[in-house]
Amino acid sequence: GQPLVFDMSYASAMARRELENTVHQLMEVESWNRRDTEPYNLHLCNLQADGTYQKELLKQYGADVWDRMLINSSDKHYIDLFPREQLVYLTADSPNILRTFDHSKVYIIGALVDRSSQPGLSLANAKRLNLATARLPLDQYLHWQIGAKNLTLDQMMRIMLSIKETGKWEEALKFVPKRKFDGFHHERTQQEIPQNRVKGNYR
Ligand code: SAM
Repeated sequence: GQPLVFDMSYASAMARRELENTVHQLMEVESWNRRDTEPYNLHLCNLQADGTYQKELLKQYGADVWDRMLINSSDKHYIDLFPREQLVYLTADSPNILRTFDHSKVYIIGALVDRSSQPGLSLANAKRLNLATARLPLDQYLHWQIGAKNLTLDQMMRIMLSIKETGKWEEALKFVPKRKFDGFHHERTQQEIPQNRVKGNYR
């Protein structure tokens, strides 16, 4: 299957509760993926052996379950596992919009929760590594209701499974929680998008 990377390099950027929360979300990620007919080949990268993350994973799963899970985990960096030009870091703060899903790319998701809201953290990381970045086309398809466009890891997983299988954002973005938006746009063309929005895309 197509690889999908979770970047586990944010342990030190999170409080205890947030780390526990992230691990909980990763359990859901693994389970949505495993139950899918076309699962991704999941990679947890930058996972330090005996680090706080690894300890929390083992605590929440138990060693035997963890060993049986369909996840590749290692302390290796994704830039050492995949060709750089194949990597695309997904981040809500990217100036680029992910319009079409590319089956030849390796998408990266930052394994962190945003409770304490650290905007631009994963974008800064991707920039430092000189990687391509993209955000989900939320504004293009949804009437957005409330501020933050950061989705949880399990929501990201379901969206990424759906877009891989259907190629349709109308389908994939059904996994954005309903409280966050007020319906889908209907076949919005570029001309229909108000001028200020179009400008906004070039931020
Ligand atoms: N402030 C954090 C950051 O710097 O990315 C937000 C973390 S978000 C809760 C967890 C991860 O999900 C992000 O690192 C990103 O990979 C992915 N993600 C969440 N919402 C996204 C969006 N709208 N577009 C692209 N990726 C998104």
